[in-house]
Amino acid sequence: MYTNAHTHLELSALAELCPTGQEFGAWLQTMLARRMQLDNATLERGIHSAIEQLHHNQTTTVGDISATRLSIEPLLNSGLAGVVYLEVLGFDPDVASQRFSAAQREIDTLRQRETAMKIGLSIHAPYSCAPSLFEAAARWCQDEALPLAIHIAESPAEVAFLQQGIGALRELNRRITPHIEWQAPQCSPIAYLEQLGVLEAQPVLVHAVQVDADDLALIAKYDCAVVHCPRSNHNLLCGRMPLEQMLAHGIRVGLGTDSLTSAQSLDMRDEISFAQQLHAYKVEPVQIEQLAMQAAILN
Ligand SMILES: [Zn+2]
Repeated sequence: MYTNAHTHLELSALAELCPTGQEFGAWLQTMLARRMQLDNATLERGIHSAIEQLHHNQTTTVGDISATRLSIEPLLNSGLAGVVYLEVLGFDPDVASQRFSAAQREIDTLRQRETAMKIGLSIHAPYSCAPSLFEAAARWCQDEALPLAIHIAESPAEVAFLQQGIGALRELNRRITPHIEWQAPQCSPIAYLEQLGVLEAQPVLVHAVQVDADDLALIAKYDCAVVHCPRSNHNLLCGRMPLEQMLAHGIRVGLGTDSLTSAQSLDMRDEISFAQQLHAYKVEPVQIEQLAMQAAILN
């Protein structure tokens, strides 16, 4: 009955990293380094255990991000509905282009085997993906009617990266791709997606915490759905999403736990009760419970 609209089941084996209380950029570095240390068999055990937890917790629909591709087969065979998004990232435009072409081939093949679990594409985030990757992916997803998910407007560090070209995520990005110049577009994360033509593909916008009135108007104008992950945002010091303003704009909002590296469980009932406390006196508790059943936002 519940829809967990944002997970990374492949990170379930790294659950001991949570809760961290670390700032987002520091957490991301720790998480990526730790993931590299684990072999595929360990990650796969985590995925199977996570799928069991979802069944046990009355979750019937899931939106999962797959960077390693390890969650795809288990999800196609899980009996769960939803979308598994193949993640692509790359700040070097040439590297990104090659990875995108490879992902397109994988997706074309996998789409022939869809069950109640559909296949989608995820372009990771502005600080890890070249602008040209966002543009190409949005065009393709629009042409192919392929579900697209993007992590966007998550942390204050992401805002600093786009507004001023500084901060922890700029430092991380500079270390990984020191040869790539970055001219900050000096705009908000949501405005950045609009400038690149990405909102026209109506991506599912994951997080959308760092949003102002103009951003909310843009999300509403393009009728993009948003996934709210309040425990993850809280644990990574990302702030509170203005849920009441989202709903006042008529924006479609779903609820997700995010991965076990930033949330304490994959149980939507835990996410609902945290969200009810977080948005107390701003959003009715029953309305928050309904957000956890919004399977349609993944279409
Ligand atoms: Zn995520």
